[in-house]
Amino acid sequence: MKTSNPILTVGSIALDNLETIHESRERVIGGSTTYFAMAASQFTEVRIVGVVGTDFTDDGHAIFNSKNIDTKNLQIEEGETFGWGGKYSPDFSSRETTFTNLGVFKHFNPIIHSEHTHTPIVFLGNIHPDLQLNVINQMQGDTLFITDTMNLWIDISLDQLWEVIQNTHIFLLNDEEAEQLTGTSDLKKASEILLSKGPETVIIKKGSKGSMVAGKENLDNIPVFPGVNLVDPTGAGDSFAGGFCGYIAKYGKTNLIDAIIYGSAVASFTVSQFSVDGLRNITMNDIENRANIISKLLTENIII
Ligand code: AMP
Repeated sequence: MKTSNPILTVGSIALDNLETIHESRERVIGGSTTYFAMAASQFTEVRIVGVVGTDFTDDGHAIFNSKNIDTKNLQIEEGETFGWGGKYSPDFSSRETTFTNLGVFKHFNPIIHSEHTHTPIVFLGNIHPDLQLNVINQMQGDTLFITDTMNLWIDISLDQLWEVIQNTHIFLLNDEEAEQLTGTSDLKKASEILLSKGPETVIIKKGSKGSMVAGKENLDNIPVFPGVNLVDPTGAGDSFAGGFCGYIAKYGKTNLIDAIIYGSAVASFTVSQFSVDGLRNITMNDIENRANIISKLLTENIII
């Protein structure tokens, strides 16, 4: 794979209401595609597939019109942008969805411009598995599919989700989702079950305990960046995916452990500020510095 391949991604673009013990904010920029694109565009060109309403903010449009993000497949429809409310427990250990307003997402039909159907890397961000399948079916050529999901789809759309997993090369999920999908809290067993369904690699994120990778490479404890002041965990998974996929787009997929380290480095910026603010002004140099620190921790075998 040549370096700096473009990435195509589908997912949500949202106006979020976020509530933490310290601060609440309404109608801030969010959505899986937004966090992903802001993270991955540090590494390569990101082609977004999504929809916003006519109420989407100038700030949101400015983010997508920035360098390295292609908006050819962004639809702007009359009506409200997808809205989501998240409220965190005081210690951030759990999150409650306070509302979901589908808005223009309700009738979203992803359409990929013919120039983009041969994009070599596709990240299927967190949206209904039917929409993920729709994008899989539009892609042509040799595509690397990297997929994320959430508990909601395991609850309400399991069959379609398994079909997506079957078509996935690298599957990203967190420990709770892995248990919910496979029925076992033993993450090694869970990853074996998931690998038997199609993916060549499964990456299970364990929050502040880091991540594990199973498949061609196997490692249990890849640490997170230490000492981060947790302000707002929203988008951690999507920006992890952005750093992970961005690394693969730039350097290939021979070293997935380094890709995970870069994903964790990017996510550490996301969670240290509200909404997407932690991703607004970072540079590749900032990401590399944190990735080097995580790498060092890993080689010294210090488990955070
Ligand atoms: P994460 O914290 O990584 O789970 O991602 C949070 C983002 O996911 C928020 O910005 C939400 O707008 C978005 N989100 C929440 N629920 C959904 C859903 N049902 N479909 C698509 N995106 C969602």
